[in-house]
Amino acid sequence: MVVEQRIPTIPITEIEQSAFCQTDDELRAKSLEDEFSAGVRWQKLPVSYMRMSPEELDERIAEARAKLGDSAVILGHHYQRDEIIKYADYRGDSFNLSQFAASQKNAENIIFCGVHFMAETADILSAPYQSVILPNLAAGCSMADMARIDDVLDCWDDLHDELGDDGDIIPITYMNSTAAIKAHCGRNGGIVCTSSNAPATFEWALERGSRILFLPDQHLGRNTGLKMGISLDEMVVWNPFKPFGGNSVEELRNARLILWQGHCSVHTRFTVQQIEQARATYPDVHVVVHPECTMDVVQAADSNGSTEYIKRVVADAAPGSVIAVGTEISMVKRLAAENPDKTIFCLDSVVCPCSTMYRIHPAYLSWVLDGLNEGVVVNRITVDEDTAEQARVSLDRMLAVV
Ligand code: SF4
Repeated sequence: MVVEQRIPTIPITEIEQSAFCQTDDELRAKSLEDEFSAGVRWQKLPVSYMRMSPEELDERIAEARAKLGDSAVILGHHYQRDEIIKYADYRGDSFNLSQFAASQKNAENIIFCGVHFMAETADILSAPYQSVILPNLAAGCSMADMARIDDVLDCWDDLHDELGDDGDIIPITYMNSTAAIKAHCGRNGGIVCTSSNAPATFEWALERGSRILFLPDQHLGRNTGLKMGISLDEMVVWNPFKPFGGNSVEELRNARLILWQGHCSVHTRFTVQQIEQARATYPDVHVVVHPECTMDVVQAADSNGSTEYIKRVVADAAPGSVIAVGTEISMVKRLAAENPDKTIFCLDSVVCPCSTMYRIHPAYLSWVLDGLNEGVVVNRITVDEDTAEQARVSLDRMLAVV
């Protein structure tokens, strides 16, 4: 077979990740025109929306939202800005939001304030008469962008050609992946997981095969593998830009867990040094991090889990508790504001929101709501029926497991 070396490419979303990082804690929305100066990609929209002040947008959104009544539902991911979250009919992590969307049978329009793969999942799970709208089409996810379906298909073929054990590798994809990758898992005996049910899906997969191909987040995969008793010696990382992912056939044969080389640009900012600093400042601090953080950080923390888990840790802590959190800053700031009897702070002192979530500026929300009131569906996200059907298979398997 021809073994070709590809030219590595970095997703634009990854390059743009630090565009909104600041050294102070000022994250209030500015007019879109002002935010455009950050130099990242934004979707074009009528100029009048760009010039509106945050106050004008606020009034306009409230008015448009009220006119739409039950025909529209607004979903807000935990990592969205406060100016968006205040209009969310429901707030949650990616999977909760999609499930909620699927349960909203009266709403013709689902406005998903999150990122692209989430809107795709909502479209897969919603009814055909419902439209899922992503207010800014440039709101992607750098992690999802690190696993392109063509590269995954090449990897899948290489693994089967070299290992010759067709059907023995079970693909698991994290929710944070494209519909095409979820469909690939559906077609090939695989499953979708979230950060809360990843261990249960590993157990499910290992009952059916001897190896797992985990996409696209190597850190969630590694942290979960370790929890499930898979040693580091039994894991390899698949670099899509190298022949055989950068592994020898021998290494692949010995592997029980093949980790796609992807990561979250937000959660890999957290370091063990930040945890040590938090412990030095607050000896009684509880450190909780998301499992998309690196293995060293997860092991140095007191606990780790999904955004919903982190919310619970904070809510259940006694008044006066000090909690350092390793996840996205908009969520940490909200947790701090909602729990004034506790000291809640982000492990990273530089304020970095998820730059792609941050692209859902209020101007975009205002634009799509106005469109609906004028009978125009702006930015509808649709997944073709074949892909949706196969993706539903892997999502349904997940629902049957947990
Ligand atoms: S926080 Fe990370 S995984 Fe989540 S949407 Fe942002 S880049 Fe993607």
